[in-house]
Amino acid sequence: MKELLTYFKANEERYQKELTEFIAIPSISADVAHRKDISNAATFVEKQLKSAGLKNVKQYPTKGNPVVYGEWIEAKDAPTVLIYGHYDVQPVEPVDKWKTPPFTMTAKGGKWFARGTADDKGQLFIHLKVVEAYLKNLKKLPLNVKVIIEGEEEVGSTNLAEFVKNNLKKLSCDTILISDTNMLGKNKPSITYGLRGLTYLEVSVTALSGDQHSGTYGGAVANPIQVLAEMLVKCKDPKTSKVKIPGFYEDVVPLTKKEKTELAKIPQDDALYAKNLGARQTFGEKGFTTIERTGARPTFEINGIWGGHTGTGVKTVLPASAHAKVSMRLVANQKPEDIAKKFIDYFKSIAPDTVRVEVKKFENDGFAALTPLDAVGMKAAAAAIKKVYKKDPYFTREGGSIPVVADFQQLLGVEAILLGFGLPDDNLHAPNEKFDISQFKKGLETSMHFLEEYAKLK
Ligand SMILES: [Zn+2]
Repeated sequence: MKELLTYFKANEERYQKELTEFIAIPSISADVAHRKDISNAATFVEKQLKSAGLKNVKQYPTKGNPVVYGEWIEAKDAPTVLIYGHYDVQPVEPVDKWKTPPFTMTAKGGKWFARGTADDKGQLFIHLKVVEAYLKNLKKLPLNVKVIIEGEEEVGSTNLAEFVKNNLKKLSCDTILISDTNMLGKNKPSITYGLRGLTYLEVSVTALSGDQHSGTYGGAVANPIQVLAEMLVKCKDPKTSKVKIPGFYEDVVPLTKKEKTELAKIPQDDALYAKNLGARQTFGEKGFTTIERTGARPTFEINGIWGGHTGTGVKTVLPASAHAKVSMRLVANQKPEDIAKKFIDYFKSIAPDTVRVEVKKFENDGFAALTPLDAVGMKAAAAAIKKVYKKDPYFTREGGSIPVVADFQQLLGVEAILLGFGLPDDNLHAPNEKFDISQFKKGLETSMHFLEEYAKLK
């Protein structure tokens, strides 16, 4: 493996040059004006996969943006790792908040600044360069590698699940490797083993056919804002933060002892955490730590609430209706559809006779993902990190959602290893996104060791 490390060093400048070219393509998936850039980025990835030495490299059209795929499957009797990444990026507004041009990769203070450096072009690039290093120097990989790079992650991976469904055989593998997440810090290497899911709804409570004068009618009929507030309070206990929707916790996979121990190792200062958020103190579900609450426990959140007069000055209105947007972050094995139904049934059941209730569900459901700590891929990732960072990784659960991870797990029936090299201050989805160059370099070594270790352990 020495020759690979030497090769990484010798090619640093070229890596930077190629990544700069990749970054320069403004492949913003949320904006149709960037269709051509999306296509250019897919073609760039296709060329990269080919020059890395992968075979059967091809762009596959979908109803949306193309998926790029390549493979090297010549390691007989060896396991197969499917590497996933995405070539699309987030929009760059507000542009005036960028200190360097968003699509010109600028090296400064050991960091690369530009949109896509960490999310996800820079991170996926790591694996392509590792594959290339193996195939150029050793003419082989320690195991079979399949690479799938999509162009719709930032808009919800709308067409990826269908592509996977239609190509189950092509994508069959023993594990999935994804570098699209963070570590806790440069010297706090970590592996993400859980992500939360999501379901999102809007509720409307109507008491009258139209707004009325609160002097004339106030006291005679129900106020829908008052009723909505009372109903929302019935959804989550104000003291314990336990969600009161019947059956809400039914499918929750409880934290194991081992997980509790691992999560407790993560450095966490609640007072500082609260201070950084401008909060007076932390608050959440009774019986769990902040780390557990944000990663391993489901929540019920009110995302917005409106009704009546909210403009300036006084308007003595008795509003006809009141509305709220509510969402629930989910954990394994809660099913978004099932939880949404439980919420709707419960919400309707607690409505008083004075109002009509309407509920609308949004179509952005996502399943949670959970990889057991003793999965082979987790062990391989931990061993690889130890080799490069000289310390054991922390194991973390992220509160956010990457629905595609659960899609992959469900459709392909294998675990996903979230071995991300980003850092918490990378400014993802914000101005001045960056990727630490040292994390890129360590990423090369870690990815190399991961493939090696996985081949050995599996
Ligand atoms: Zn990403």
